[in-house]
Amino acid sequence: MSEKQTISRRQFVAGTSGLVLGAAMHGGAAKAAETPRSPATSPAAKKKSDLAIHGGKPAVTHSASLGRRWGDPERRQLDAMLQQDTLFYWGGPQTKLLIERFQQVCPVKYVQTCSSGTAAIHIAVAAAGIGPGDEVITSPVTDIGTVIGVLYQQAVPVFADLAPCTYNLDVEDVRRKITPKTKAIIAVHLTGNPCDLDALKALADQHKLILIEDCAQAWGARYRGRPIGTVGHFGCFSLQNSKHVTCGDGGVVGSSHEEFGPLLQPFGDKGAFRTARREGGGFRRFATNYRMSEPQAAVAAAQLTRLEAIAAKRARLGNLLSEKIAHIPGIRPHEVHPQDRAVYWFYMFRIRPEAFRISRDDFARVLRAEGVPAAAGYIHSCLYGEPVFREHGFFAGRWPVREFGLTQMDYSKVKCPEAEAILATGIRVTIHEGMSEEYILDVAKAIEKVAKHFAV
Ligand SMILES: *Cc1c(COP(=O)(O)O)cnc(C)c1O
Repeated sequence: MSEKQTISRRQFVAGTSGLVLGAAMHGGAAKAAETPRSPATSPAAKKKSDLAIHGGKPAVTHSASLGRRWGDPERRQLDAMLQQDTLFYWGGPQTKLLIERFQQVCPVKYVQTCSSGTAAIHIAVAAAGIGPGDEVITSPVTDIGTVIGVLYQQAVPVFADLAPCTYNLDVEDVRRKITPKTKAIIAVHLTGNPCDLDALKALADQHKLILIEDCAQAWGARYRGRPIGTVGHFGCFSLQNSKHVTCGDGGVVGSSHEEFGPLLQPFGDKGAFRTARREGGGFRRFATNYRMSEPQAAVAAAQLTRLEAIAAKRARLGNLLSEKIAHIPGIRPHEVHPQDRAVYWFYMFRIRPEAFRISRDDFARVLRAEGVPAAAGYIHSCLYGEPVFREHGFFAGRWPVREFGLTQMDYSKVKCPEAEAILATGIRVTIHEGMSEEYILDVAKAIEKVAKHFAV
């Protein structure tokens, strides 16, 4: 039985609307683990087992009603939007409101709304003047949108390894990857857990690099009390449907940098400056059309009124889960700095494989049978392991910067051992603001039950 038949991958990751997690999942997931040779189903294991997968009572007894994601605030904003005689972003009241509310969440001087998180990052990369052959160091465990803009600017993503339990950039490995061609670092706050921004900023300053924060999963997160997206030269956010605030598809990019900030608008809008005549007329920059229209802005502006409650609740639930599973032998909880606020776009713990008589995949299946919204790993492989990277086939099967000798990068030879280990031993658990603390306590109990049962 595939994941899809119980709850889709996106829903697992994000915990979207209208889902009821709990009892409904047991039957299907139980069948999934009954594969030959699985220790979970060997006759010996079956005898004195209270696991749900063997017919025992599931550990998760509370259900989580994830509720509706939009309602009156969005309806009011959409109604106001329909009174307008233009739905274009420039000068649009909804876009203005979205920018104003964004600046309350992420207080930066210059803001451009755009069509996606991918677009937000591409705009930042272009505004930073990153171009052919420039190297940009980033995480191999992220949405591919982190590097799409880098590749489109003909720059070269360089993958650095990750810290074992924050799943964020290992600053020492970033340092090792710096070359004379390095222009920028993209710090991905994976799952909404802040990267070590002070260390990355110090490293960037030391080498005169630009620091771009990929905050796509990090709406509402805080780094040492500071709003996410304000430490780097750029903060890039996604409003895609799976993120915890959304307008279906959309993005926002912000900067307080006096040179780069004014370039966000033209790089999101065909290279055309719509502001002052400071750049004179005509097209002085080249860019694609990444505009967001007023309907998206209306929904996004309304969604931001919900953000603080969503972020605070997710932070509390994720931290609670860590607290409750930290003592379990063989389990490595999601690591968050005590002074940071992580918003757990999803929660991920790791297992120490040598501590269990069961594979990671089976561990996740047995957990699902206990009623936990769990799944094995995150993305299918590190980005450099994807066929388009291994084959360097970015532009009609070719990669000009490599053909022209601007880079020797060979993605088929890249290895980030810790990142690969994270994907091989991680178990993802949905966190959602609609869940109760009791539900999370059940989840923790389920993890302990399964860990105990299969302990070596
Ligand atoms: C979702 C996401 C993106 C891309 O955002 P889109 O709006 O889907 O283009 C980039 N980086 C990370 C970390 C993401 O989670």
